[in-house]
Amino acid sequence: MFFSGLLNLSWWGDVIALLVMTHVTIVAVTIFLHRHQAHRALDLAPATSHFFRLWLWMSTGMITKEWAAVHRKHHAKCETVEDPHSPQIYGINRVLWGGVFLYVKEACRTETLERYGHGTPDDWMERHVYTGHGRLGVTLMALIDMALFGIVPGLVIWGLQMIWIPFWAAGVVNGIGHFWGYRNFACKDASTNIVPWGILIGGEELHNNHHTFATSAKLSNRWYEFDIGWMYIRLLEMVGQARVKNVAPKVRFDRNKPECDDATLQAIILNRYDVLARFEASTAGSAVMNTVDAMRRDLMDLWTASNATREQLLGQLKDWCRRAEASGILELERFSMTLRAYA
Ligand SMILES: [Zn+2]
Ligand SMILES: [Zn+2]
Repeated sequence: MFFSGLLNLSWWGDVIALLVMTHVTIVAVTIFLHRHQAHRALDLAPATSHFFRLWLWMSTGMITKEWAAVHRKHHAKCETVEDPHSPQIYGINRVLWGGVFLYVKEACRTETLERYGHGTPDDWMERHVYTGHGRLGVTLMALIDMALFGIVPGLVIWGLQMIWIPFWAAGVVNGIGHFWGYRNFACKDASTNIVPWGILIGGEELHNNHHTFATSAKLSNRWYEFDIGWMYIRLLEMVGQARVKNVAPKVRFDRNKPECDDATLQAIILNRYDVLARFEASTAGSAVMNTVDAMRRDLMDLWTASNATREQLLGQLKDWCRRAEASGILELERFSMTLRAYA
């Protein structure tokens, strides 16, 4: 009774059970709370949606409205003093190890919930059971764990379940994901992709992709990146439990095109953060930074010249490529070839 419960598992059976349960929690956070509730990137069928909500209540005690509100504020105020958990403001250690406290502090603010918490569940279960009874949820989980795995292993498993999301989501994603890693896109905040394989944290590792295309249901973007959350979304879609509403535009290149045309312009306007990141990567360390900076500003005019016609913009783009290729600066010449190839 102390060491084996109803399931009577060996120690490695307990380890597998722990990994499966924490993985379900991670999947619930990324698909239900993050992509479905906070960003509305996909719809979920009522039964699946409610399963995730119930599971999160028991395995984390978190409330949907609070999570969505704090997270939407993070996007709206990213890397400013109003961002609830920016490592650029609070320092990496405070967010990595104590991110959960920053989250709880923000979740208690009524103004945050009112301003950013709209559209989250408000049914009978939410009002009478989930909201305000987070402790009841996690206590139920403790009792179930002790019954299934025995009192001692059950309590150890439960303890690890309780710190799983505070560490991996509030610490690693919110901390490291704005501090260390690689960037596909030069979006305005400091977000990074931690590793290209989003498995352990359900795809949330690809945080730079996410901040660039916040309403995309799919977080991977390059051929070598993998988002396990997206795999589950596709499986849920096959059995009629999910419907994707939005995914990021795909960057495509056609190296055989002779000259910039309307499609090139369209692709460049659509993929501005990708263009900028490639520009930075190609020109990094150039010996003529003054020219490079001036060319960057001219390039950015393409996105900011709001009252120019399409013909004018296309003329501007062609002129930019001509100047880059005549500049005698190898980095700019090479980048111009990439720019022409956007399709
Ligand atoms: Zn973020
Ligand atoms: Zn987000």
